[in-house]
Amino acid sequence: MPDIKKQISFTPEIRKIIRQKLKDPNFKYTNWSDESLEEIRKTIRGFYRNEQNGKCAYCRGVVSLQSASNCHVEHILPKSKYSKFLFEPKNLCVICADCNEIKREKETLDFTDQILKQPNIQLYPRSTKSFLIVHPHFDNYDEHIKILIGGHYVDLSPKGNRTIGICKLNRFLHNFGWPDEPSSLEDMLKTAEKLQHNSDPLEQIRILRELAKQLNSNADILII
Ligand SMILES: [Zn+2]
Repeated sequence: MPDIKKQISFTPEIRKIIRQKLKDPNFKYTNWSDESLEEIRKTIRGFYRNEQNGKCAYCRGVVSLQSASNCHVEHILPKSKYSKFLFEPKNLCVICADCNEIKREKETLDFTDQILKQPNIQLYPRSTKSFLIVHPHFDNYDEHIKILIGGHYVDLSPKGNRTIGICKLNRFLHNFGWPDEPSSLEDMLKTAEKLQHNSDPLEQIRILRELAKQLNSNADILII
């Protein structure tokens, strides 16, 4: 199932404002940030934040639940190139600040798709094949990308590979390196034994933390 199961349905009042904006010859995609659209942006952000269970559509990291600073309204087809889809419900979702900063205006339409041969698309594509990246309205994320607990994104398809590349999803590993080497079973059993024979509560907490770290260092292996 795609992460977004239901698209936003605008109220008649909002639909009226959108119609007016799109009809206005002076209205450009850069007007998206206008104060007059603040309420609409807020409505879209709130809807998709909820629909996506507070997770970024690309990295699945948490987005902020109150503030707008780490919960950006995302135009899956970039608004600078496809301004006609500025308010298209299927083109909207929420993403985290880092994915937003990195993806920016990168092309996401796959022009090798036969349906898109026409030079200027009028209708929003409905086929998963039309998009280069994992589309949160159409694609099942888990079929394209696997996230290991250490924060390593593994591609399961060409689409997953492109999403990882376009949004630089392995940025955390690239910046901070791989997590600690996995601990051996023997190490973990030794730590568990220390815990069993220690009666000092503070020391027990310290040993428990050590054990948790050792277990966590094996999480990637356990998941595979
Ligand atoms: Zn993200």
